[in-house]
Amino acid sequence: MVDCGADWLRHLRRVAPHAIVLTHAHPDHAFGLAHGAPCPVWATEVCWSSLTRFPIDERRVIRPNRPLTVEGIRFTAFPVEHSVLAPAVGYRISVGRATRIFYAPDLVFIVDRASALRGVSIYVGDGATLTRPLVRRRTGHLIGHAPVTTQLEWCRDAGVPRAIFTHCGSAIVRAPHEEMSTHLADLGARCAVAVELAYDGMSRVLR
Ligand SMILES: [Zn+2]
Ligand SMILES: [Zn+2]
Repeated sequence: MVDCGADWLRHLRRVAPHAIVLTHAHPDHAFGLAHGAPCPVWATEVCWSSLTRFPIDERRVIRPNRPLTVEGIRFTAFPVEHSVLAPAVGYRISVGRATRIFYAPDLVFIVDRASALRGVSIYVGDGATLTRPLVRRRTGHLIGHAPVTTQLEWCRDAGVPRAIFTHCGSAIVRAPHEEMSTHLADLGARCAVAVELAYDGMSRVLR
């Protein structure tokens, strides 16, 4: 399970994950662990420093840029700009040689984008905003969210053929799903990226 936001607090026992890997310590990514976790949890050191109050027994540290195998799945954390108070990472996730995903639900940019996206088959990205950057500058850092259109350019430049947008903002959520899916597909076509809009319960088989 990647991330465990506050809305999962009451559902975590039912989901019964074997492992949880966190991108950052914002409530919508980590506060589902406020009552503890039924399994080991991996996060960066800086992420753990914000979650000291949570009664999590099996705290594991994942270091940026160092691949780690969790339950047979390889995770590499890549630092992304998103928040000064809750530094975030995106995960390059791979199984076997062929399947590589990059997952980053909240980001302005990926610090080492070329390495993060090299050979990736599916980019799962930040759906907070379609075309308008939600970015502020604070103490030399950029914080907020890159628009979908910018992320599609990253995919184009890295040769990533597919993208799924998740963790969507109001502009995407309020629109009818079919209509927005078509719109996203059109935006993707400009960058030669096949785009899907995520929805609750979505599953994809990766080969
Ligand atoms: Zn966040
Ligand atoms: Zn978020």
